[in-house]
Amino acid sequence: MSLCIHSHSIAFTVEMRPVEVLPGGVFLLKAQVENTASVSAEFAGKKIDFHKYTGNQFIALVPVEIDLPPDNYPVTIIAGDEKEVAHVTVRTHRFPTKKMTLPEEKVILSPEDLKRAETEAALLESVLARQGAPAWEGRFSRPTDTEMSGEFGVARIMNEKRTSIHKGTDFRGTEGTPVKAVNSGSVVLTEDFFFGGNTLIIDHGAGLYSIYMHLSKFNASKGERVSKEQVIGLVGSTGRATGPHLHMGVRLLGVSVNPEALFKLEL
Ligand SMILES: [Zn+2]
Repeated sequence: MSLCIHSHSIAFTVEMRPVEVLPGGVFLLKAQVENTASVSAEFAGKKIDFHKYTGNQFIALVPVEIDLPPDNYPVTIIAGDEKEVAHVTVRTHRFPTKKMTLPEEKVILSPEDLKRAETEAALLESVLARQGAPAWEGRFSRPTDTEMSGEFGVARIMNEKRTSIHKGTDFRGTEGTPVKAVNSGSVVLTEDFFFGGNTLIIDHGAGLYSIYMHLSKFNASKGERVSKEQVIGLVGSTGRATGPHLHMGVRLLGVSVNPEALFKLEL
């Protein structure tokens, strides 16, 4: 489903899709603007900048926080002095709970491991903060040819002690299954992390990043431009993984969103 707004005083058209999302989802705003260079939007108290796409087309990908209560929300689009309001519906969704058992030292961290994990989390945040020009080409594709094995948003109770929300999607794989870039962009990180093991991040522009974890091998290096479906690494079980699989996460403007929502997006 999509929605178009046609403004009268200036040549300004906005397209929004989808108009119904789940918590943790993503929606797209495309604005056709004739005579102004700056376009922005406001959604759920957040200002979203548009990015120049093609010709006089501007684009913004908008994240929906996983804990945003279901409701009908206004999306205000501002182009020059002109303002238009569209609406997006956040639907009710109950995320499942899953009990897991992991080696005790991977759940209750030693002071050294905790310090390492905190340093790595800070590095991750600094890498994910940029908002460059859109670098993707067309729709996003899945990172493996394998099935999904763990969905986004599951509350995981580890060793009956600690709960963490699964902020990504898991894909099945054996050691060495190829992992492909979900779209074109630049590799901005290749590091061995405590939780994520061998982790690779691609910057797709507009504040959008895809994150690949537990890799056994990197097939692309930091600073490299990669194209959609290029093999960037191999599945492994490095870091805190119970077995070989790919954990793939998506960060958009600082928010963890559901990779499945990104794959469904008609770009
Ligand atoms: Zn995972």
